[in-house]
Amino acid sequence: MAVSRVRDGIYGYVTLDNPPVNVIGRAVRQGLLEAVDWAEAEGLERVILSGAGRAFAAGADAREFDLPPEPPHLPEVLDRIERSPVAWIAAIHGPALGGGAEIALACRYRIARPDATLGLPEVTLGVVPGAGGTQRLPRLVGIETALKMIPTGKPVSGMAAKEIGLVDAVDDDPVACAEMLNSEWLGMAVPVGELNSGDAEEALFDAARQVARTRMRGQQAPLRAIDLVALSRSAPLAAGLKAERAVFLELRQSDQARALRHVFFAERGARVPGWLNADPAPLDHVAVVGGGTMGAGIAYALLNAGLKVTLLETDADAVARARANVEKIVEASLGRGLIDAAGAQTRRAGFAASADYAEAAGADLAIEAAFESMEVKQKVFTRLQSVLRPGAVLASNTSYLDLDRIAEVLDDPARLVGLHFFAPAHVMKLLEIVRGAASSDRALATGFALAKALRKIPVLAGVCDGFIGNRVLARYRDEADALLMEGTTPWEIDEAMVEFGYAMGPYEAQDLSGLDIAHANRRRKDATRDPARRYIPIADRMVAEGRLGRKTAVGWYRYPGGGGKVVDPLIEDLIREEAYFAKAPRREFTADEIRHRLLLAMINEAAEILAEVIAESTADIDLVTVHGYGFPRWRGGLMQYADTLGAKAIRAGIEDLAKAAPLEWRPSRVIEDCAEKGLRFADWRR
Ligand code: NAD
Repeated sequence: MAVSRVRDGIYGYVTLDNPPVNVIGRAVRQGLLEAVDWAEAEGLERVILSGAGRAFAAGADAREFDLPPEPPHLPEVLDRIERSPVAWIAAIHGPALGGGAEIALACRYRIARPDATLGLPEVTLGVVPGAGGTQRLPRLVGIETALKMIPTGKPVSGMAAKEIGLVDAVDDDPVACAEMLNSEWLGMAVPVGELNSGDAEEALFDAARQVARTRMRGQQAPLRAIDLVALSRSAPLAAGLKAERAVFLELRQSDQARALRHVFFAERGARVPGWLNADPAPLDHVAVVGGGTMGAGIAYALLNAGLKVTLLETDADAVARARANVEKIVEASLGRGLIDAAGAQTRRAGFAASADYAEAAGADLAIEAAFESMEVKQKVFTRLQSVLRPGAVLASNTSYLDLDRIAEVLDDPARLVGLHFFAPAHVMKLLEIVRGAASSDRALATGFALAKALRKIPVLAGVCDGFIGNRVLARYRDEADALLMEGTTPWEIDEAMVEFGYAMGPYEAQDLSGLDIAHANRRRKDATRDPARRYIPIADRMVAEGRLGRKTAVGWYRYPGGGGKVVDPLIEDLIREEAYFAKAPRREFTADEIRHRLLLAMINEAAEILAEVIAESTADIDLVTVHGYGFPRWRGGLMQYADTLGAKAIRAGIEDLAKAAPLEWRPSRVIEDCAEKGLRFADWRR
């Protein structure tokens, strides 16, 4: 039973009961409608509406968004609740999001636990609220607050909801509080739909549009939501609801909404694969080797999850630096209010750092994040093997190195797995779990268990240069460099990719991470590089001239005074010079041409990654590109985007580019296969 109801005197208790989080599917809507009829037929004074389990209601059932809408529709159900002679009271604990919040808005009175979460996150799924959210919220909390919540999708706590007037009261026991409400008061409460949303200056809407255009660039739902909030000023409720519903139904079929749903479901589907039944190692105590950028972030992520951490460094000075690196993150988290003083203390208490590997002897898992050098890593694992229990799992955070070669120094190479974190490791959600030739199921299962403990999104990857993400990135950068040689500039390329939806282009991103990392990587590949393939030396020149990016205040751009980026004409000269030496013909490129080249390059590489079984599915590639590399979420990830282009068009584009650079542009057999069989990449099977 999706909705249960009980009568006690003149009180009715209606409970949303659709585990685990009471999403509002057809059965819930039907149950609510029947509860309205029941409460009226029974002549109740009030209905106390709550959610069973850990939520009030976490939103609409997004799985229904791909199907034709089925009655009863939520707006009609909510209209009945709002206009019922029986006063409905929402007693909210846990999330009341999307449709859940809209149900609460249709009630006569709202009481929330202080730690409840209320909000209208529909825009994050590419739609607008579809059951009155854009019309009732501004009537209840005013235009200005509604404009902060709806176009951003940001929720508020129960406590904050009281402050802005979204709920009438906060209480640790909202149901008991609802029972105590004075009948007279309740009788006088005005339905939200009958309130006036008040006027607001046009400037407020302009400001909200500006925020949406910059922070949610390229997305249509936030702007449509703002228009609907604007409508709530002048339109009667019924007309506003009708307009809102029309926009909701239009948007839910849009490419953007489909793409956002795709990522949403891919995230939920990212878990231990069915075939992996092994038990993971226990995860109480973890050793981290190296306390630099990555090691400190990884250590903090582990401490956040309540694990005990022993960080190993090379000597006393390095131990002190590592300690300071971790402490910096603790302080920053405190400063941002993410943890309180007690939380900071718990994290400090769980942390130890030492240059003596024996201190980590009790660890069940060790994660190595030392320098990116085969020699260093092999030494680290030899030492770890000598101090840790034979059952302890060993992991490397290497970005590019061959995991199978690292494993050669182990008596039991099955213990080793790759755990590729992203910087900053305590923030970024993605974790590539790299499966070496020998990696045991237990080692892999430990990686997945760790991802779960750290609330990260796990993606299984095979061994190759760069695994999934960095391999696609390397091809992206290589093609961008080719475009430089042929006539563009770093800023034209960056701008084209920002227009596509990236937060920053490839050159600004390189300046941020530092050009020295990629440089070291190119030197590593010198010995094995195919001499027939083009080699573009521009970035080497940059490094030779000390242009390492932000850290030297000059890279592809200049950063005077450590501030924002400034275009540097010297770079253009440098590029022209290299193009002249290479006798590369130059011409102008449009932003569309730039995007076409760069996206096809990435798609072709990703298709090869599928063909070589480095990635298990297109959804995994989508998760990696969205969560690790800034591919716009609302485009669904690289392969979801590729499917909107279609394999035939992609193949034709690649064949065309191959005329000038046949070695760089060989269509992947996955693209050939999909083009020939008319398959979506998502449906391709080897
Ligand atoms: P870093 O230079 O900031 O830190 C490396 C740390 O390892 C240093 O503090 C060093 O003292 C320590 N170290 C070196 N040899 C050691 C040893 N034998 N025992 C103990 N500690 C030792 O480097 P980083 O950026 O944190 O990268 C670490 C690893 O993570 C590399 O393999 C890198 O490729 C990988 N990685 C980096 C990023 C990134 O964005 N920086 C992202 C993913 C993976």
